[in-house]
Amino acid sequence: MVSKDLPFTKEKILEIMKKYPTPFHIYDEKAIMENARKMKAAFGKVPGFKEFFAIKALPNPFILKLLKKEGFGMDCSSLPELILAEKVGLIGEDIMFSSNDTPFEEFIRAREIGAYINLDDISHVDYLEKYAGLPKVICFRYNPGPLKGGNILIGKPEEAKYGLTRDQLFEGYRILRDRGIMRFGMHTMVASNELDSDYFIETARILFELIVEISKELDITFEFVNLGGGIGIPYLPNQDPVSFETIAGGVNESYASIITAKGLPPLKVFLECGRVITGPYGYLISQVRHIKHTYKDYVGMDSCMANLMRPGIYGAYHHITVLGKEKEDAIHKYDVTGSLCENNDKFAVDRLLPEIKIGDILVIHDTGAHGHSMGFNYNGKLRSAELLLRGDGSVVQIRRPEIIDDYFATLDFEALKDFNVDVGL
Ligand SMILES: *Cc1c(COP(=O)(O)O)cnc(C)c1O
Repeated sequence: MVSKDLPFTKEKILEIMKKYPTPFHIYDEKAIMENARKMKAAFGKVPGFKEFFAIKALPNPFILKLLKKEGFGMDCSSLPELILAEKVGLIGEDIMFSSNDTPFEEFIRAREIGAYINLDDISHVDYLEKYAGLPKVICFRYNPGPLKGGNILIGKPEEAKYGLTRDQLFEGYRILRDRGIMRFGMHTMVASNELDSDYFIETARILFELIVEISKELDITFEFVNLGGGIGIPYLPNQDPVSFETIAGGVNESYASIITAKGLPPLKVFLECGRVITGPYGYLISQVRHIKHTYKDYVGMDSCMANLMRPGIYGAYHHITVLGKEKEDAIHKYDVTGSLCENNDKFAVDRLLPEIKIGDILVIHDTGAHGHSMGFNYNGKLRSAELLLRGDGSVVQIRRPEIIDDYFATLDFEALKDFNVDVGL
């Protein structure tokens, strides 16, 4: 059976469950820190390199504090995310504000804390100026649209809502220059969960070339390029992780042959990854509540799509380990389901696993990014706790589970008492 390693034993999980009942997400501090350091080391030679962790992947201040210690900035796209970054002491140019369809209150806050502001549309220049005033440095998000043949960019950027067209970029930077802006950045991100390192090297090359062109035509100087996030992780046990060294090496080559060769002033290279930073180091721990045999065999968990919605919404694969049965043959085919009244509430469909019994503990892998954070309350389901497995083996609860009072917090039952159902009808 193909397997994935775990940073804990069944005994350890049983011990944790005495204090923190399932379901919960547990994150591996040691592995997150080692990975962050690996990235920093690999990109060490890339000019001005900085990673801005995409908060939406794992918006927990304990995790953000760990990443801050490694020198990471934060990529935010909403007011609560900006506030979360502030709570761990990150403001100013440690913040990349990469939002879209942005309300003015958020631009105002981003301006106040001095974040890098990454504009998603040319019309946002006037909007930003009107409500928040123009900052000293501005970045535009580029959408390459239908690319020329031979380009290896995947997906269909022209179908994506993000960013400015090529023509709008020239126009946008010209407008900013004419309004006295002197510091510029350029950003793009058109793929998600991409495992091919060439993709990111190609993205860098496209942006470097565009920066050369625009710098010349408008006589402006770029300060940074932001290659976005989207580096993938091996969700499948037979996939290989992306090599940071390969990406960094390729970016450096392009940098030398384009930016340095054309005599441009130094340009800082930024990333805003989420998934590849924390994704593989989180696990959803859940216990089997029911087993059901009808037209298929079902394993009913004590968790559901509200705890991890990627399989339900994208059909995404998340590897599953049955704790204590790692050595048994995976010869039973199951649908592993949650308890939502939604038929796509399944963590796995037709998955081969060892024979499962009620009470078995399942580990659902790779929930460290876009896992808990995508949760919701549909069907009255409550989001679980988040735990941190510390480097010394101790466990800290870094977010308590939701309780029913949280679910009711937005309802006014006092007003309900006075609510007259007979009015006007
Ligand atoms: C979601 C997002 C990211 C992070 O994506 P990952 O796949 O987690 O790396 C970065 N930047 C922007 C603008 C995003 O929307």
